[in-house]
Amino acid sequence: MPTLLAAIVGGLIGAIASLVIVVWFLWFCILHRRFPSNRNSETGSSDPPTIVEWSRRGRISFAGGGHATEHQGARQFTLEELSQATKSFDECNLVGSGSFGLVYKGLLLDGTIVAIKMRRGSPQPEFVEEVKKLSEICHRNLVTLIGYCQEGGLQMLVFEYLPNGSISHHLYDTGRDIAMRLEFKQRLSVAIGTAKGLNHLHSLVPQVVHKDFKSSNVLVDENFIAKVADAGIAKLLQRLDNAGPSRSSDGNVFQDPEVEEFGALSEASDVYSFGVFLLELITGREAAHLLSPESEESLVQWVEGHLVSNDLIDRRLGSSFTSEGMKDLIGLTLRCLNPSGRGRPKMSSVATELDRILETEMTLTTVMGDGTAIVTLGSQLFNSS
Ligand code: ATP
Repeated sequence: MPTLLAAIVGGLIGAIASLVIVVWFLWFCILHRRFPSNRNSETGSSDPPTIVEWSRRGRISFAGGGHATEHQGARQFTLEELSQATKSFDECNLVGSGSFGLVYKGLLLDGTIVAIKMRRGSPQPEFVEEVKKLSEICHRNLVTLIGYCQEGGLQMLVFEYLPNGSISHHLYDTGRDIAMRLEFKQRLSVAIGTAKGLNHLHSLVPQVVHKDFKSSNVLVDENFIAKVADAGIAKLLQRLDNAGPSRSSDGNVFQDPEVEEFGALSEASDVYSFGVFLLELITGREAAHLLSPESEESLVQWVEGHLVSNDLIDRRLGSSFTSEGMKDLIGLTLRCLNPSGRGRPKMSSVATELDRILETEMTLTTVMGDGTAIVTLGSQLFNSS
């Protein structure tokens, strides 16, 4: 009998122990599905795409698929907070102005440096609605919209502050004393970051089209990482000014020429604008001044003409590039500038192609040594097969 009792007790203990192990194993698996350790370098969030992470500002972002199903929303600032941050909107903190209004640099009480865009406007629910949607977007190559303020007859947007300003200042703003020379590989990595930022917008569900992409909307951080600014702001302004006159984009060289025909800006329109940006990186010149106002020429025709006359490529690039890399970059630029939207590549292929060009450039210049890259005249680039 005691042997039978011992066997029963032993069996029971064994069964309980097995149950505990199974429960512990299941709990461990669930926990690891929720919090895996591998990280995605683009968004700084975890892989696979369904995994969430708290961003620096305490928001939750989803990587990969672009869905954002859970969020804390945009931070609402008081006028007093933003007034304190900018020393009562003192002129010494004014960094510029654009289509939204004046832009101030501000220091929040928690030490965050921000860019505050301000315009006159009475409170509108559409403003908060749109800002909440845009502040959910989180990517290392997009300028983060932190929050907003609607008070005292003013509407304000609060963004992360990018200390190196816009890439256009570094490329062609002769009024500023910028000692740094932008090498070919630096220009390529700025182009890659920018392409990845735009591609992230295009991959969101619902998709976000930038609608106002241009070089002045590519800002660079302290490490010279490119971040696309003002994503969705054109649409926001359109909604706010619905009752008023629509904004004219006449003479905007970045604007897709097909818009005049079809009326609406699409993903392919952003690709065209990106092509104009690539052209500025190649020439080191402001695209707005490439064609005379009376010219009937397209940018593609302008590029082809200047390839023949050998004055397409920025002379400041010196011998910092290989003919293979430059040829591929010009080819990609021409594809983005295709007058027909259907003929343009997707932003994802543009980013992949730029990655490939930079990788090849790194390999070739490592083998040959920097500064000894083989340079070919523009007219010779497309002669060989
Ligand atoms: P538009 O609004 O017509 O497209 P824009 O892009 O030049 O023109 P804004 O985006 O309002 O206009 O920018 C005005 C100035 O403020 C520019 O010099 C820009 O570099 C600077 N700026 C804008 N946002 C930031 C930011 N987040 N960090 C640092 N500087 C910024």
